[in-house]
Amino acid sequence: LHKEDEQESRKAQKEASRLYPQPLQKFSALRNVNVNNALLSNIAEQGYKEPTEVQLATIPMLMPDDGTEPDLLTVAPTGSGKTLAFMIPLINKISKAHQQEVENASHRQVSAIIIAPTKELVTQIVNEGRKLAARTGVSITAFKKGMRLHEDISTAEHEDSASEPEDTIKTPLVKSDILVSTPLSLLNAITPSNSNSPLPLPNITNLILDEADVLLDPLFRTQTLALWSACTNTHLRTSLWSATIGSNIEELTTSTITTRQTTLKIKSKN
Ligand code: ADP
Ligand code: MG
Repeated sequence: LHKEDEQESRKAQKEASRLYPQPLQKFSALRNVNVNNALLSNIAEQGYKEPTEVQLATIPMLMPDDGTEPDLLTVAPTGSGKTLAFMIPLINKISKAHQQEVENASHRQVSAIIIAPTKELVTQIVNEGRKLAARTGVSITAFKKGMRLHEDISTAEHEDSASEPEDTIKTPLVKSDILVSTPLSLLNAITPSNSNSPLPLPNITNLILDEADVLLDPLFRTQTLALWSACTNTHLRTSLWSATIGSNIEELTTSTITTRQTTLKIKSKN
């Protein structure tokens, strides 16, 4: 029995050090964890040297590029650098996945979705993301009306945008790795006009909700949760980022770490 306890405790310690790794002291220390070289130099070129508090806590946690990172809710003040905190691990993960792939870039499909409540935020995220992703082979796109994520879909959006036959208004499938969008426009794009339920997005393995408190407010909640449910991949990793935490998001999480100005909430894998 004693031995079993010991084994249990060692297992728990191992799990804890995986979930709560050493903080990242300097961005240059990412070199030691096999980070994409172009990403590392983009971080330096942008003039980022010391990670902010939220970055030093969350980046090591999200850095495993093998899909073992936890689902995470991060609460940290406005201006504390949350965009970089979710972008760096995401770009690194996708660049690593590309290295394993045999097919070429033109066959790529969206594997990550970032949802933000306003178009202005979407633009900011895309701009910041592209600076970090330069020369990594990872592409980032802002969702535009008419973009499709499914081969055969006729949405209400398409129908009222033109009276022409469907095939003349069809745009090609989105080929970008990361798609950034407000909730409603993306939801419309995956919901067929003759249906109330969105089509599944089985290829999405990362879902990021920025300003998650707003996205889970009554105004956006139904749309956000519908998009979340559409992400059916069993390897889906979700992270939520917010400046405040309300009961609307707290109920989604199981454990908490708090530092000076950052609160991390982790939902353990079952
Ligand atoms: P938040 O989303 O938490 O409100 P942002 O991600 O928008 O904050 O970042 C706010 C500003 O801080 C941005 O202009 C960004 O470029 C800058 N910033 C982020 N991380 C760092 C860093 N490690 N060092 C210096 N400036 C940073
Ligand atoms: Mg932000």
